[in-house]
Amino acid sequence: MTYILIKNGTLIDGNGGQPLKDAAVLIKNNVIKQVGKLSEISVPNEEVEVIDAENGYILPGLIDTHVHMMLEFEELRKSLSTPFAYKFYQAIEYMKKTIDAGITTVRDAGFTDVGVKEAIDNGLVLGPRMQVSINPLTITGGHGDSWTRSGIDTTSLSYPGMPSGLCDGPEQVRQKVREMLRAGADIIKVHATGGVMSPTDHPEFTQFSLEELKIIVEEARFRRGIKVMAHAQGAEGIKNAVRAGIHSIEHGIYLDDEAIELMLKHGTYLVPTLLAPVSVLEQGKNSNNMPEHAIQKSLEVIDIHHESIAKAYKAGVKIAMGTDAGVMPHGTNLRELNLMCSVGMTPMEAIIATTKVASECMGWEDKLGTVEEGKLADLVIAKEDPIANISSLEDQSNIVTVLKDGKVVKDLRVAKTNLVTQ
Ligand SMILES: [Zn+2]
Repeated sequence: MTYILIKNGTLIDGNGGQPLKDAAVLIKNNVIKQVGKLSEISVPNEEVEVIDAENGYILPGLIDTHVHMMLEFEELRKSLSTPFAYKFYQAIEYMKKTIDAGITTVRDAGFTDVGVKEAIDNGLVLGPRMQVSINPLTITGGHGDSWTRSGIDTTSLSYPGMPSGLCDGPEQVRQKVREMLRAGADIIKVHATGGVMSPTDHPEFTQFSLEELKIIVEEARFRRGIKVMAHAQGAEGIKNAVRAGIHSIEHGIYLDDEAIELMLKHGTYLVPTLLAPVSVLEQGKNSNNMPEHAIQKSLEVIDIHHESIAKAYKAGVKIAMGTDAGVMPHGTNLRELNLMCSVGMTPMEAIIATTKVASECMGWEDKLGTVEEGKLADLVIAKEDPIANISSLEDQSNIVTVLKDGKVVKDLRVAKTNLVTQ
């Protein structure tokens, strides 16, 4: 079986044009061969597997550019008593939930082992295709340094393949980039400011000097053509990151006019993660998973964050969808789209941010992000129209069928595939 024909759906191809009714997509092996009205598709005279979209909506496989695939917050006592290897097995469940949400590609912003990525690529386990950053670079006492005043280091575990990200000064940061690349990083992650989840800093604190950030960018780019993503929340740290040539600003809580102008000038991507503080507060109410400092800092930043992203959107900064999944439960990622609409984006723009722009942010726009001839067959069929109701994407029972690399990896249809010989 080499051909799949998806028909009887409305196509939202990721480019932002008018949705196409009575659309069909012809796939050969793992590649999209033809896209258009069913009447315009020349179906080959061979065996073709037909997937009836049942009047649903055909979208590109969705992309989350900021996840932590091997992490989900839980009570400290529980995480301290969990065997080391358990988290690798737990990640299998997180990855399945991500696929079930319709997300077929992710950029991992920290703590995922390169072996997990390889296991997916080799078909050992089901999961989204990914770029990994291994361990984020962080200053002593900064966001990512999980040293506590008791002297116990709670979470920043390093092990073979997961070098510690702690580094200070030009020489150490250069060496750390080299260590992450050696460990298999596809992208370098750096903490340019403090954050909400860290015990001993604040989102507005600037971390790493401009000089250090420039070395990080240079080392990644010149040696391997690799890009750098920066956790950056305070205005000064954001500006340092953009000036240093960092590719994407994650969170962007305190963007001011100058920071926005710089991002426009440099073509820097913004990954809002609006769902992160929302989820911290929800979990603070409903569980013991969240430390008190995270709840307090989330309360402090949630409205400012919203305004900051709204301002950047209005100014025309490139926005790629990213959630910080792991801070919230995996599989709930698409709640982010409704939040993106609450800062002024249209549902279509939120979808483009989750497909085309996200693929561009990852440098994979030649093979992913839109439903077009020659691209990889990553596709989602949703029952409800996401343009009419963007929140419908949050409901996993509405995500009926998911294809990754030309293979059906989720299928809730009642009448399954029919085999036909044309
Ligand atoms: Zn994150």
